[in-house]
Amino acid sequence: MPPLPKKQLSKSKQRSRAAHYRFKPIAVSECPQCHSPRLPHQVCPECGSYGGRQVLPKPEEKT
Ligand SMILES: [Zn+2]
Repeated sequence: MPPLPKKQLSKSKQRSRAAHYRFKPIAVSECPQCHSPRLPHQVCPECGSYGGRQVLPKPEEKT
């Protein structure tokens, strides 16, 4: 088989394939400690906790 398509894809065929490449919104999860939005599988930037324990030193300044 030659590495060339025998027929040119129709526009509807191209578009129906492109329908699977939809833009996905960024996943945001809630921190169980301070309930602030954070990225999943990452240390919370607000309280510095991950996996139910303190990973980073707690930020002292409070607003
Ligand atoms: Zn937090």
